[in-house]
Amino acid sequence: MATAPPIPVPIRRFADPDAVDTVELPGPCSCPGSPHDPHDTAVYRTQLGGGERQSIATAGSINGFGSYYDHEAAESQLIAVALRSWTLQNAKGEPMPITFDVVHRRLDAATRKALSDTINDAHQDQLRAEMAMLPKAPGARSPGSSRVNGSRRRSTRARK
Ligand SMILES: [Zn+2]
Repeated sequence: MATAPPIPVPIRRFADPDAVDTVELPGPCSCPGSPHDPHDTAVYRTQLGGGERQSIATAGSINGFGSYYDHEAAESQLIAVALRSWTLQNAKGEPMPITFDVVHRRLDAATRKALSDTINDAHQDQLRAEMAMLPKAPGARSPGSSRVNGSRRRSTRARK
């Protein structure tokens, strides 16, 4: 069957699930036998759907007994959701699965930061559009208030 031409979509409304880029991870490859000399790499999606973006914000939030925000949980969810593949292996030379648990509980801080910075940079424009459409946190201004008010991103925007 012939390959159909790609369907052009308006970027602000539909994320392209196949839009990806590659990042080199900091430090040398430490997989058994150093098969990825000099660097490990990761392939990440450069566009995320609104539901995925919402689940990243929700990963760091607890509602019901006051507001709470766990930056690291949201960061782990961002990495786990956005990563398509990486070269990282375990001590047996088997591929490390990309899951929230692996990213949150096992991945080192330098690699987490490199991944989240890269992914966040790639999603800056999309992030701004998503945040502008999110429901407001309790105690925030009413929907009719000005969009230029900087406080509206306080509870959901990942801090550096
Ligand atoms: Zn490696």
